[in-house]
Amino acid sequence: MKKSVRLRLIQSITVMALLATAAVAGAGTTLTANQALSTLLSGNSPYLTGNFAALSKNAQPAVRTTLVAGQSPYAVILGCSDSRVSPEIIFDKGLGEVFPVRVAGNIIADHEIGTIEYGVEHLCAPLVVVMGHTKCGAVTAAVNTFLPQLVTSGHVVTPALVPPVGGNYINSLLNTLIPPVNSAYLLVGNTSPLIDTAIDENIKFTAADLLVKSAIVKEAVEVGMPAACITPLGSLPVGAKARLVGAKYDVTTGKVSLVPLAP
Ligand SMILES: [Zn+2]
Repeated sequence: MKKSVRLRLIQSITVMALLATAAVAGAGTTLTANQALSTLLSGNSPYLTGNFAALSKNAQPAVRTTLVAGQSPYAVILGCSDSRVSPEIIFDKGLGEVFPVRVAGNIIADHEIGTIEYGVEHLCAPLVVVMGHTKCGAVTAAVNTFLPQLVTSGHVVTPALVPPVGGNYINSLLNTLIPPVNSAYLLVGNTSPLIDTAIDENIKFTAADLLVKSAIVKEAVEVGMPAACITPLGSLPVGAKARLVGAKYDVTTGKVSLVPLAP
């Protein structure tokens, strides 16, 4: 065998071995994106009545033991750090089911995007949810901070606040929220639904921004899940794609509703 051919063969075998290792480490869910979404949303009803099923069952020591070998969550949830919006609780889920990424205002920067990509590419979760919530303190703070400038000029240029150099990192959060706040002001002006509209716009903006910034998520949604996630290396059916959806949690009623994203 020619040296170059032998080298290519060795490289191919190495890649296959790595892919197989990834698949074994977390064989990945068998749920398609739509099944994952139904499973996730079905957990909101038990939460509303307080009759937890999966949260009680799947948080037992025996389940913890089965997960030592690896995890196969079916949903990545980008949510707010707000203490009232814990994904496992509001969706009645136990260990190993969801892969939450939580940050004030459910925004994305490098680390959040990297975490989401890890959930999709390495853990093979086919569903990505961007979930905002009513009465979000981060979005409210952004609206209140930028409102004087919005009233004056109708638009805030980003970054409006001093970058956090050894100081106020909250400014970084607020700067990231400028585009959805601008967009909400354009829609409703300085009227009472401004904060609620900004919350919705933030969900839509963040989801769209994720597709722009993450080639991994974009490819999983538009072309298909990574090869290591598809049978026989992984557990998803051939042709499986990821799905990106928006959702909003109502801290008053406890209900989660889907928020349509831009096509
Ligand atoms: Zn919040």
